[in-house]
Amino acid sequence: LQRLSAGLARSSGQLSGQITDLFTKRKLDEDTLQDFEDVLIQADFGPETAMRITDRLSDGRFGKDITGEAVRNILAEEVEKALTPVARPLELDLSVKPHVILVVGVNGTGKTTTIGKLAAKLTQGGLKVTLGAGDTFRAAAVEQLKIWGERTGSAVVAKAIGADAAGLVYEAYDEAVRNGSDVLIIDTAGRLQNKTELMAELEKIVRVLQKRVPDAPHTVLQTLDATTGQNALNQVEIFRNVAGVNGLVMTKLDGTARGGILVAIAAKHRLPVYFIGVGEGIDDLEPFKANEFAAAIAG
Ligand code: GDP
Repeated sequence: LQRLSAGLARSSGQLSGQITDLFTKRKLDEDTLQDFEDVLIQADFGPETAMRITDRLSDGRFGKDITGEAVRNILAEEVEKALTPVARPLELDLSVKPHVILVVGVNGTGKTTTIGKLAAKLTQGGLKVTLGAGDTFRAAAVEQLKIWGERTGSAVVAKAIGADAAGLVYEAYDEAVRNGSDVLIIDTAGRLQNKTELMAELEKIVRVLQKRVPDAPHTVLQTLDATTGQNALNQVEIFRNVAGVNGLVMTKLDGTARGGILVAIAAKHRLPVYFIGVGEGIDDLEPFKANEFAAAIAG
């Protein structure tokens, strides 16, 4: 919570400062509400959510004096209400062994780092983990994954650059079975610039996995970079269709002034948000808590 609060300080500081400025010696009139809505849109809440929160604020209070503090409290309440349904702990069904977690997302959104942090959490909890370097396109991604494997004591299955990703996944599954892993986490490529190829590759990975285990992958996590703003909405749309994303991780919340995007994504996609990334270190992955996030963002 310390890191999250510090990380979100820029966001909340900015937002709460703007709210204070806006509601100093002003009645809640049409202009103030419009300005408030604009502030929310700038913080990436998205037009629909911004409008809904503004409506809630004006309800029963229109034409009256209101303090910045009261507005921040209402904002926190609305954000918590919007995010509570999606804030869920990641529960892995360990009756299937290995439980297969596929991690997808646009390059640079934090897939490899999140896999490393997640592997750390799982191994600290006594589980055995294997990592599959399914981004066979980028040497740096494979190297990074190997480093996380060493750090967390997890086996890493990798192949030469350019190798077939689905083939790699098949081998990684075999290795996870062979070494008795509880969880297999698979990294994937996220080259949005070549969407057709990317989709074909992800579809093939899923198909190959399902040939081995009909209900695999059991968990499909998508990483989203909080600093990319409204783009994240489209990214969920794309990967949800191709890879069957069933949970989200919002990364880089330590360095952004735009945490409102999480509220927009919750409103549109209603997918569980399992974790948030609040730094580059091994412990910088936190379970997502709606109340803590709401308090931090509303300042
Ligand atoms: P990938 O291309 O999706 O695998 O993304 P990476 O895991 O390589 O991450 C891209 C960059 O973002 C790296 O420099 C990471 O250290 C950094 N990163 C990942 N998650 C976080 C986070 O939660 N906070 C911060 N500040 N940086 C992060």
